[in-house]
Amino acid sequence: MSHHFGIGIQSPARLPAPFPGALIVIGARSFAVRERNNLATASVAAASHSRARRRPRAATAGQEMDQQGGNPAVGWAARDATGVLSPYGFSRRVQSDDDVTIKVLYCGICHTDLHVIKNYWGSAKYPVVPGHEIVGTVTDVGSGVTKFKAGDTVGVGYFVDSCGSCECCGNGHENYCAGVVLTSNGVDHARGGAATLGGFSDVIVVREHYVVRVPDGLSPERTAPLLCAGVTVYSPMMRHALNQAGKHLGVVGLGGLGHVAVKFGKAFGMKVTVISTSPSKRQEAIEHLGADEFLVSSDPEQMKAATGTMDGIIDTVSAWHTITPLLMLLKPMGQMVVVGVPNKPLELSVYAIVPGGKGIAGNNVGSVGDCQAMLEFAGKHGIGAEVEVIKMDYVNTALERLEKNDVRYRFVIDVAGSSLGSAA
Ligand SMILES: [Zn+2]
Ligand SMILES: [Zn+2]
Repeated sequence: MSHHFGIGIQSPARLPAPFPGALIVIGARSFAVRERNNLATASVAAASHSRARRRPRAATAGQEMDQQGGNPAVGWAARDATGVLSPYGFSRRVQSDDDVTIKVLYCGICHTDLHVIKNYWGSAKYPVVPGHEIVGTVTDVGSGVTKFKAGDTVGVGYFVDSCGSCECCGNGHENYCAGVVLTSNGVDHARGGAATLGGFSDVIVVREHYVVRVPDGLSPERTAPLLCAGVTVYSPMMRHALNQAGKHLGVVGLGGLGHVAVKFGKAFGMKVTVISTSPSKRQEAIEHLGADEFLVSSDPEQMKAATGTMDGIIDTVSAWHTITPLLMLLKPMGQMVVVGVPNKPLELSVYAIVPGGKGIAGNNVGSVGDCQAMLEFAGKHGIGAEVEVIKMDYVNTALERLEKNDVRYRFVIDVAGSSLGSAA
C-alpha cells in the first residue's frame, strides 16, 4: 500500500547510466506520488487482490454489499476501468460503540486513487469510491468513544482498521499490519469482506482508533493531503532521526510528497536541498517552499560538488532512476529512505553503501500515532500542503490533469461545498 505513489507521468525521464557519477534521471513530482501509492496498495491489497481474481465481484453484488443499514451516503464512484466518476448512493454501516461518524469536508486526490479507479493494479472492486485524505467534522459518536465528540475536526488517512492483534498492531505500527483495511477499495474483513468506500462522499463511519484529531488553526483543505502524503514523509524522518536541526536533508523529487518533505525539514531546522531533474523547479523550491539549495541531478558537476554532504535523503520518485549517484551524496552512515515505488527494481552497487556504512530503508505511510504526531507538528509550525481546491463536478477533469501531473501539488475536493448530484 504504500500507498500512494505515483505514476510516471510527469516530465519525461531520461534514464541514467547506472554507474556512480552518471546522470540521474529523476522524474518530476508526479512520479513520486503515484508509485508510492502503488506500493502501499500492493502490500496491503495483495491478498485481497488474489481473492478478487478468483471470485470476481459483480457490480450488483458490490452494490448490495454497499447497503449497510446506516446513514445514507452519496459519493462519486467509478463503475469500471474507464475510471470516470459519477454520483453513487449507498449507506454507511450502523455506527458501533467505538465508531465515529464524520461529515466529510475535504478530501485530497492521491495518485493511488487514480491507479485504483483505472484498475492499473487489477484490484478494483467496483463501484469504487476513492479518497483517503479526509478531513471532516464529527457528527456523532458511539457510546464507547472517548477521544472525540460531535463538532470536532478530524482526519482519516490511508487505512481505517487493522487486525489489532499482530506484532505490528501491538507495537503501534498498524500501517504494516497484514490485515490492514484500506480506506477506499479495501477489504473490510469484519464485514464480510465488503469493499470499503472512501472519502469522495459526504459521510464516513470509522473506528475511533483510526481517526486523528486536526489541531486548531490548521486549514482543513491544506491538511487533507497531510493524511497521506504528509505522514509518508514525516514518519521515516522521525524514525531515522532526520528531524534534527542542523542536519542536511536531501529531497528527491518535488511533487505531492517531496514538497511537504521540504516543509517538514525546514520546520525541523534542517538544511534542505531539493534534488530534481527539472532545473525549472529551482525558483519554486527555494523561493516558495523554502529549500536552501537545489541540485539538478543530471548535472554531474553539481552532483560531484555535493558528494558526502547529506545526513539523509528522502527519495520520492516513482519513475525508475539510478540511486547510486544519490547515495554518493550521503555522508558516511547516512540514510536514504525510499518512498517512491518504481515498478522496476532499482540497481544497487554494494560499493555505494558498504564502504560508508550507509543505509537504505523503505517506508509506507505511517501509523495512527505517526499521523497524529505529524498533525500536531504541522499545527505548531503552520504546515499545510500546497493545494488546488476543486468542486466534485470537476473531479474527472482533475483526475485527467493528475495523470498528466498537471497539479501543484495536490487536488483537494471541497466535498461539503459541492453539489454531489443525484445518487444513482
Ligand atoms: Zn495516498
Ligand atoms: Zn495487525
